[in-house]
Amino acid sequence: MSLVVQKYGGSSVADAESIRRVARRIVETKRTGVDVAVVVSAMGDSTDELLDLATQVSPHPAEREMDMLLTAGERISMALLAMAIHDQGEEARSYTGSQAGMLTTASHGRAQIIGVTPGRLQRAISEGAIPVLAGFQGVSPDTKDVTTLGRGGSDTTAVALAAAMGADVCEIYTDVDGVFTSDPRSVPLARPLKAVTYEEMLELAAAGAKVLHLRCVEYARRTDLPIHVRSSFSDREGTWVLSADAVAALVERGEMEEPIISGVAHDLTEAKLTVVGVPDRPGEAASIFEVISSVGANIDMIVQNVSTAGRTDITLTLGGSDAQAAMAALREAQPSIGFADIVYDPGVAKVTLVGAGMRRHPGVSATFFRALAEAGVNVEMISTSEIRISVVCRADDAPRAVAALHTAFGLDADTEAVVYAGTGR
Ligand code: ADP
Ligand code: ASP
Ligand code: MG
Repeated sequence: MSLVVQKYGGSSVADAESIRRVARRIVETKRTGVDVAVVVSAMGDSTDELLDLATQVSPHPAEREMDMLLTAGERISMALLAMAIHDQGEEARSYTGSQAGMLTTASHGRAQIIGVTPGRLQRAISEGAIPVLAGFQGVSPDTKDVTTLGRGGSDTTAVALAAAMGADVCEIYTDVDGVFTSDPRSVPLARPLKAVTYEEMLELAAAGAKVLHLRCVEYARRTDLPIHVRSSFSDREGTWVLSADAVAALVERGEMEEPIISGVAHDLTEAKLTVVGVPDRPGEAASIFEVISSVGANIDMIVQNVSTAGRTDITLTLGGSDAQAAMAALREAQPSIGFADIVYDPGVAKVTLVGAGMRRHPGVSATFFRALAEAGVNVEMISTSEIRISVVCRADDAPRAVAALHTAFGLDADTEAVVYAGTGR
């Protein structure tokens, strides 16, 4: 029998009525004759509320305890959802990440899945029950401690489970009708995409389109697992995330137009760090990046300026909290490395255009930078891949930059996109 993994995000299970609605949907799917496994996120904004509470108790909460706290959010929703499914006449059994065999690395708050042993879930299905798995969490086989996968990580739980159980599809239910050409909360005329390739979706997710967790797309690409992103508030067909060949087949059959640009994303969570007056000789950059990597910080963009008088500046962007950790570590290493200063700038945004058609269509960069110029947006850093152009600009300029690019590339729809729920937090 075919198997569907369905993942419901926080806004889809924000209150009792929503949980009952989602339970109805799950039961209806099972009654069409397919096996269903469910992954659920914490209710509404409850993860943010737990985070707020932790920082009121302690300004720098211990990472292990933070994971214990945050995993409680999903534990509440999984049990409530299982109760609501029972109420609709089907058996459901909820499982924490560790009960369900979600094995992860030991790094709290950013653990990576290293294995999935879903025996208990498979047994539940074979006994006619619907397993409901808490998203975003796992257990480290080394430390035996509970871990979390990073914000938005329930998507990755769902795809990892779907891959491990050989599901036909992983359905990600959220508060919008799929993946749009831009965030419908900030660009009302954003257009829903019928399909998008794993490569484009990876670039969009890395660029801040939080509709899918980056690692879930990596996982799906590796296992060629179709993801269907859709709303739990409507019955509309959503967006399919597929291999490039599968998207090309849809185009060939006339089911969608050949896409050139798939979307514009923005990210306000990064900060800019400039290491000023670095001695311009071999080994200096290596020392700087070794210090940054020693605190586990992930670097996004890197630019080295032209050197003058034997010294140069190196500018990089990283996530806000990573930037603070990197700065502290660099300050400590300053006497041995010998740079002059560090400048920390949190008031930046990254704005990104993504499209596989960039490979074939000349003039995309010209249109991109003309649109930003006409919107009065000053570009501070530029980085590109084969299918992406990203710039760093002032955070205040980001909404104007995104809107200008969306219009310049002909992405504006005729009607406004629907955002069904959620606070966008
Ligand atoms: P969930 O709680 O269901 O996981 P998220 O808040 O994580 O939902 O993700 C859904 C949100 O992602 C949408 O409400 C929307 O504001 C945002 N988003 C950002 N970029 C996009 C995009 N390109 N397409 C669709 N949604 C996007
Ligand atoms: N509840 C977690 C979060 O808010 C995980 C998720 O929703 O995917 O980040
Ligand atoms: Mg999410």
